[in-house]
Amino acid sequence: MSLAPVKRFLHSASRGIASLVFPDLCPCCLREGQWESCLALWQSEASLRFIGKVPVISTVAYDDRAMSVVLAAKERGERRAKEFLTLAISTGITRLDFKGPKDSLRVIIPIPSSKGAIRRRGEDFIHSLAKEVLRTVAISDHHVVLLPILRWKRAIRDQSELTMRERIENLADSLAVDERRLEKGLHSLDITSAVRSGRDLEILLIDDVITSGSTMAAAISAISHSSLGVRSSITGITACYSARGL
Ligand SMILES: [Zn+2]
Repeated sequence: MSLAPVKRFLHSASRGIASLVFPDLCPCCLREGQWESCLALWQSEASLRFIGKVPVISTVAYDDRAMSVVLAAKERGERRAKEFLTLAISTGITRLDFKGPKDSLRVIIPIPSSKGAIRRRGEDFIHSLAKEVLRTVAISDHHVVLLPILRWKRAIRDQSELTMRERIENLADSLAVDERRLEKGLHSLDITSAVRSGRDLEILLIDDVITSGSTMAAAISAISHSSLGVRSSITGITACYSARGL
């Protein structure tokens, strides 16, 4: 049996107790009132990798501390931990060297959680994070919108126990663009004509951690095969990257 789930559980449990006793705890180093210096690390130099031709920008190496932040945000909804992740993703976006013209439309698309995870947490975690990211980057960029249009085509197995090869097989062709939701989204944001007239789109696929890259690859494939894929350039943005995976 892999030790990873046990380690995750212990981390989360001890963190959960600590955050009740010391509410001003840093979600990263767990010291009291020290979070600002750690937060600075979450807007450090971005790291770049490629899935095929698609660049993926990540900000923080996924070590024990980063894992502690992700779990605090994801499993316990801790506000400050969410701020860390929002900052890391927003930093990735602002570091991005956009290729399109100045007025190109930037579309943030979150990678959806599984139905089971949404039920357990009471929210779609990355979607909720993406709303915060939008608020942060919209200050400096007026042409950025959020379109949560990806959906899982089938149930997927929990990834944590799988090998890299199994993860890739587990997720191949698993995500799709919900074209009806896309139409509704374009309409409500009043960008239907802009998108349909051939305006350049810069698609930003958002996730918390990239490990094997198999989820991101499935999302890239879904966008490429959708009506958005024709004129858009795609970039992946994640808060953390696991060196183990890629
Ligand atoms: Zn800290």
